Amino acid sequence: MNTNTEVANFVQLVQEVIGSEPAQLHEPSFGNKEKELVSHCIDSGFVSSVGSFVTDFESAIKEFTGSKHAIAVSSGTAALHVGLMLVGVMPDDEVIVPTSSFVATANAVMHAGANPFFVDSETKSLGMDPFALERVLRKLSRRGNTWVNSETGRRVAAIVPMHTFGHPTQIREIERIANDYEIPIVEDSAESLGSFVGETHTGTIGKVGVLSFNGNKIITTGGGGAILTQDDVLAERARSLTTTAKRPHAWEFYHSSVAWNYRMPNINAALGLAQVLRLPEYISKKRSLAQKYISVFSKSSGASFNIEPDGTLSNYWLCSVTLNEENDDLLRSILLSLAESGLNARPLWDPLHTLPMYRNSPRGDLSTSMSLRKRVISLPSSPFLSDRLGSLSTNFGARNA
Ligand SMILES: *Cc1c(COP(=O)(O)O)cnc(C)c1O
Repeated sequence: MNTNTEVANFVQLVQEVIGSEPAQLHEPSFGNKEKELVSHCIDSGFVSSVGSFVTDFESAIKEFTGSKHAIAVSSGTAALHVGLMLVGVMPDDEVIVPTSSFVATANAVMHAGANPFFVDSETKSLGMDPFALERVLRKLSRRGNTWVNSETGRRVAAIVPMHTFGHPTQIREIERIANDYEIPIVEDSAESLGSFVGETHTGTIGKVGVLSFNGNKIITTGGGGAILTQDDVLAERARSLTTTAKRPHAWEFYHSSVAWNYRMPNINAALGLAQVLRLPEYISKKRSLAQKYISVFSKSSGASFNIEPDGTLSNYWLCSVTLNEENDDLLRSILLSLAESGLNARPLWDPLHTLPMYRNSPRGDLSTSMSLRKRVISLPSSPFLSDRLGSLSTNFGARNA
């Protein structure tokens, strides 16, 4: 098949699912409940760092995820930064992160004064490859009761797996390996609110988990994040570190350490509280959109839809396909042709170790991530797209008639 035919076929498959109207990659949607709660928050006068919506939002997140603690903060990146400090990451440490991730995963490591060590991903979940992780850990040397990268002399202090596009990574395997080395896990679950491994919500398996409520995530607070933990002491420290370490008191200003102003404002939590109520509906719509893409792309010989890994439930935050061949021209032509049809699709992030600030960071073999960058395409994934009538539905109609 020549490239033009392949590109045209690809665009047609997408349009069979979502029709030919323009579509964004992922759009938030709001209703009356959002307006009601935000309005209520404004009327109360408590829009900033004090107010009950934050506590109510945290309770809703705890209930949905089954996490013992949830601390709402100003962004997912802030949650990652504090999460790393909570598990004991210190300046000049190293933290193992997948090179296939959003840049915030590595930036948060730098914010904590530490250095990212990049590892490869696998093709099924698009997340951290447990075998690649194990190969890296086997090369570390023992110093006291810590593990040290002998090439840099730095302590490896944490591992940050990420659940790509909502698909749970092989977190149980990673957990087993991390336990062998007694290295704590901070789970970057920024994309996986509503995704489960068996019965367990992502972000509640690591010592600390992190959520994001940025505008492009499955639910949004405008901007925001949350720290999840099952540990009472860590939860207490998280609260303190994100609220300038102020001792609660009616009028005194006593602060026990240098800390951050990472608290989620009340007005953002009001928006978030209304959004959490929609989460079950969003997940079910995204899953039904994914089903349509699966059925349509089963006819494709050049691309396969990325299905949730066995034993997991994905929120399908972003639906994606992987092209069979590594072909720069084909990838570019597909993205261009989708854009010309008003359909917003994206390749995978540039692998983080290729960015200027991470060009000299330590790393393992990253060949799968480099290949995935040339083959993965994220497709329009907004929940309401599942209600659109693409030509797929017309065909179904015709067949039934
Ligand atoms: C969105 C995202 C973050 C950061 O969240 P913000 O709220 O935008 O700071 C971190 N990691 C991953 C993988 C993300 O997708």
